Amino acid sequence: MTDFCWNLEFVRYNADMQKIIYSTMTIVALVLSVGSAHAQNEKQTADAVLRNGIIYTVRDEQPTVEALAIRKGRILAVGSEKDIEKHIGESTTIIDLNGRMAIPGFIEGHGHFVGLGEAKMNLDLSTASNWGEIVSMVANAVKRTQPGEWIVGRGWHQEKWDETPADSVEGFPTHHSLSEVSPKNPVLLTHASGHASCCNAMAMDISEISGMTKDPPGGEILRDDAKQPIGVFRETAQGLIAVPRVEQMSAEQRAKRLNRAIDLATMECLSKGVTSFHDAGSTFPVIDALIARAESNTLSIRLWVMVREPNETLESKLSDYASVKRIGENRFTLGGVKVSLDGALGARGAWLLEPYSDSAQSTGLQLVTMEQLETAARMAMQYSLQMCVHAIGDRANREVLDLYERLYHKFDDATKEAHLYRPSRDLRWRVEHAQHLHPDDIPRFGKLGVIPAMQGVHCTSDGPWVFKRLGDARARSGAYMWRDLLKTGAIIANGTDAPVEDVDPIASFHASVTRQMPNGETFFPGQSMSRQQALRSYTIDAAYAAFEEDIKGTLESGKLADIVVLSKDIMQCPADEIRDAKVDMTILGGEVVFSRLSAE
Ligand SMILES: [Zn+2]
Repeated sequence: MTDFCWNLEFVRYNADMQKIIYSTMTIVALVLSVGSAHAQNEKQTADAVLRNGIIYTVRDEQPTVEALAIRKGRILAVGSEKDIEKHIGESTTIIDLNGRMAIPGFIEGHGHFVGLGEAKMNLDLSTASNWGEIVSMVANAVKRTQPGEWIVGRGWHQEKWDETPADSVEGFPTHHSLSEVSPKNPVLLTHASGHASCCNAMAMDISEISGMTKDPPGGEILRDDAKQPIGVFRETAQGLIAVPRVEQMSAEQRAKRLNRAIDLATMECLSKGVTSFHDAGSTFPVIDALIARAESNTLSIRLWVMVREPNETLESKLSDYASVKRIGENRFTLGGVKVSLDGALGARGAWLLEPYSDSAQSTGLQLVTMEQLETAARMAMQYSLQMCVHAIGDRANREVLDLYERLYHKFDDATKEAHLYRPSRDLRWRVEHAQHLHPDDIPRFGKLGVIPAMQGVHCTSDGPWVFKRLGDARARSGAYMWRDLLKTGAIIANGTDAPVEDVDPIASFHASVTRQMPNGETFFPGQSMSRQQALRSYTIDAAYAAFEEDIKGTLESGKLADIVVLSKDIMQCPADEIRDAKVDMTILGGEVVFSRLSAE
């Protein structure tokens, strides 16, 4: 339909008769081709059909449908049970939704893909309430790990446990229960303080540690009554454990580790309904690995990636990568250039216009000069990539908007067209986080067409201490201003900044619509999104933020069949039940890539 309207406008504004005739012919051809494509679709048998549920299409016309047909990885048709029935043949797989909701696959609008995978390589032991829980976490990790691979964890603290391990020395557990569940994988679990580690028998064998091993200076090997090591190493004795360190790895080992991180991040995303991911900054070597995976059809998620490299590296290499788009069946696109202008609010690194309320001398940090930022932005413009600047404080946001506006005007000067605010070319440059804004700058996002990529869940996890940093007035008028931004026409991409936060889109959706903090209080709920806005920010608007709205973000004929089935209708259930919704099924390109029933 878009093309059709465009042609009509073309007719309306063009005085050249020949062109009118040409346009009319195009319209006729277009209508005919749409007609015949429609007739073609009518006859086609679906590979799979979803039926008997509420399917949210995220389209204004036909917002919900009862059934959906998939063919060759794309959506063949959506409609009523009756509409879709004709596509069911003998070979069609029927997915009975049983009244559940289906929506477009979630698009994580800003996360760190490999970082998410690397975080998954380390078990987080900080919330374990006793040693038994830790042992079962290791037992689970064994199931996901090849024999011989290290299992590494961190964050345990014996003082936090609700019981002392049955078999212990000075309150520390002995290795036996750990060795039992992990006989073929060496295990290294580091204390929350970093001052001690515990290991299993295999880790000690590999490290050639026995009863004969002496304590190193400044360290201690804890031993039992028979003088045998119990598996706990204090201070410098931890250095005896021969766990491979990344810096010491061979190129082959590093590649293996990177691919493992990619696999773990993919599994984590799919299990949470994320089918597309905007990666907020990878180096060229990581990008090479991702491209290789996409080209060999071994990347089971769709990545849209920002490159993060120093300007000199961009200058020498960007031209080779800028055209890498939608490769491996739309699994990888190099879409943007990432630069961080400031730090984060928690550490007082966000660059503010006025000093911090809890530190009168500090206005935060500027991480690159404006000249450096402009050089990178000019390269992004030259290669038709989106500029993506991390800006959290109001000063950083203003500087980025000023720069964008200036470059947009220069860009327009070249075309001799009088656009006041938006450039003649659709650039969709982004501000990553846009967390704290001066009220004067809020409308500029809409006017300039700059996309704020914001994280719903940051608001609620930061909320309790934002007042301290910014004071009440600034927090009220400038922090996480989703509703005001949307009102002024901005398009927001939602996300989690994983692994900073859990990649779970349902938690971020809940935060976006309630602004309810973990302590139960709400953070200026007047700025919350409606459920429809929140759903859009995780689907079609995030797709728009990556120039991908033609292939994803809504459920309609011709788009990629990326779909999530949820156990609960998050668009209609009481707000306090949203977080109970579980991802029952994730479909990517028509294939079921995650199913909760088979995962449990
Ligand atoms: Zn980030």
